Amino acid sequence: MFEGHAQSLSSFANVSSFFGKERRKVEGGQQRLRVPAADAVQSPSLEVLTSAFGMSAGGAPPLWPLTDYIISRTDIKAHMSVPANHPRKASLDVRHRLTGGLEEGIVAPAGLIAHGRGEAFDYLLGERTPVEAARAERAAVALLLAARKPVVCVNGNVAALCPGDVVALASAVGAELEVNLFYRSGGRERRIRRVLMEAGAKRVWGVGPRSRTVPGLSSERARADKPTVEADVVLVMLEDGDRTEYLMRMGKKVVAVDLNPLSRTARKASLTIVDNVVRALPRMTGYARSMRKWNRGRLALVYGGFDNKANLRVAESRIRSGLKRRR
Ligand code: ATP
Ligand code: MG
Repeated sequence: MFEGHAQSLSSFANVSSFFGKERRKVEGGQQRLRVPAADAVQSPSLEVLTSAFGMSAGGAPPLWPLTDYIISRTDIKAHMSVPANHPRKASLDVRHRLTGGLEEGIVAPAGLIAHGRGEAFDYLLGERTPVEAARAERAAVALLLAARKPVVCVNGNVAALCPGDVVALASAVGAELEVNLFYRSGGRERRIRRVLMEAGAKRVWGVGPRSRTVPGLSSERARADKPTVEADVVLVMLEDGDRTEYLMRMGKKVVAVDLNPLSRTARKASLTIVDNVVRALPRMTGYARSMRKWNRGRLALVYGGFDNKANLRVAESRIRSGLKRRR
């Protein structure tokens, strides 16, 4: 079984220096990974990783020792410094924040894949904030400032990518911070809380057992703490479409940051920001500081005049023309 996984990864090893040349050998003209037997893997990260994602070592899935092997044999930090003149520096730095977050048990393995989907859309957007995204960000901030009980939901990717920015935005709009995870474990929740507290958060909700839920939702994302239950406006990032839908059914307004204008989340949310969270959040904090003293009537003029569907169409056509430009 394990050998099979190693073979399936051999093409990956061919194109990547991830494992280093010394860990390859040529067999019958094909490069194969030299992977130790599962029980030969000695690394503290097996324990860290299994607890990070709520699995006991005994109940680990067959791929687990391989994941451990990859992580323990790869000095991720050694690859984290990208030369200042590298043409893809900004994008690589962001990736390294995520791989570092995986190593620390903050990001779930599937979070890397979710980021990849976002990156592809960002590439087509030209990796900058287009005017329609800036418009959505300003309207979203107006909505959050006008809210009576706003909440900002944080997952592993956001905690790894921009903890300071999410804490700053929540503070600027007077929102609570709540951890919400699809791949939930107590350890991962606590680590995300710690990262947010170190970034300046005063209180982080959504850690530990909770009796309340988002009705209708069956995944771990259904768990809800007081701020989400009571909120009138919820900010979500890299969210699932079904949670967005069920939050809306609870009568809440949902603001989503999602680089894919076609995702269920983007389509279902009350207000969608098609931008990368690493750019969107600092901009939103800037808007919040400039609108902080505005009364509800003035704020309502900003979000009330915003047409989400029309804005999504602009974002989608920008991506389509980005596709043509890159041909
Ligand atoms: P949905 O459930 O809404 O249909 P999905 O299943 O396509 O979404 P998920 O894996 O649930 O996607 O969530 C990842 C979403 O987050 C994707 O739409 C992706 O484009 C987006 N995304 C990933 N990284 C970022 C980022 N850095 N900033 C903003 N959005 C991102
Ligand atoms: Mg989804």
